Amino acid sequence: MEPILSLQGISKSYGPIRALNDVSFQVPPGSVFGILGPNGSGKTTMLSIILDILKADSGNFSWFGQPGSPATRKRIGSLLETPNFYHYLSAVNNLKVTQAISGRGTPEDIERVLETVKLSHRKNSRFSSYSLGMKQRLAIGAALLGNPQVLVFDEPTNGLDPVGIAEIRALIKELSAQGKTIIMASHLLDEVEKVCTHVAILKKGTLLTAGQVDEVLANEDIVEVSAANPDHLRTVLEQMGGYSQLKQDGRQIQLFF
Ligand code: ADP
Repeated sequence: MEPILSLQGISKSYGPIRALNDVSFQVPPGSVFGILGPNGSGKTTMLSIILDILKADSGNFSWFGQPGSPATRKRIGSLLETPNFYHYLSAVNNLKVTQAISGRGTPEDIERVLETVKLSHRKNSRFSSYSLGMKQRLAIGAALLGNPQVLVFDEPTNGLDPVGIAEIRALIKELSAQGKTIIMASHLLDEVEKVCTHVAILKKGTLLTAGQVDEVLANEDIVEVSAANPDHLRTVLEQMGGYSQLKQDGRQIQLFF
């Protein structure tokens, strides 16, 4: 099957900082594709390039097997930064404004989107009265206008409380079950394991590995140390540049770099 997105040799520097170094991978249709790496590893730069917000220095990418076109763009919804919603407007009116500005979808879309993100019951409440989780669900709703086939999210659960995190993860799974392909950046191994089918791991702009989550996690690059040996744990963490996403698995802790 044709990949939804294919990247070949993408590199990008900001002055002397090499944010991405010759990165290639493919996103299969129907996958929830995690881009995993610690802060500063190049995830946002990667998403900005594939969304045409930034230009790569070298390399290329194609969506749906073809170079970018306006028709292609309409098939992709994205959430990189929280949109500037109006605090004194309701969810419905904020989505109307977003729709008017973006030209995505039809007015009927708004009710459908609010139902998907489970805000129908509060659709007429002011945005300022929403919890952080509800605000994030509305932001995802804005990305869903026009019913795009692909969704690109940057750290969609960042800053949320455990309930908000669980709601967003459930929503991502639901969108995936509806047949959407989802590409999401995360610095949490735990999140990728819970939500994603595939993963590409970035470290300092270089791709370490990419593939199905279960295959990647079975790979011997995962270092296992005993939870009973915190000194060893600390040493390994330091050697790995402080990347410390831990997976508790009985008495074992798996460290991932
Ligand atoms: P991540 O999303 O994984 O945190 P980023 O893509 O934001 O990583 O950043 C990758 C690297 O590029 C980091 O070293 C970061 O400091 C640097 N960087 C990102 N944006 C800019 C910018 N606008 N100007 C200079 N350096 C940047």
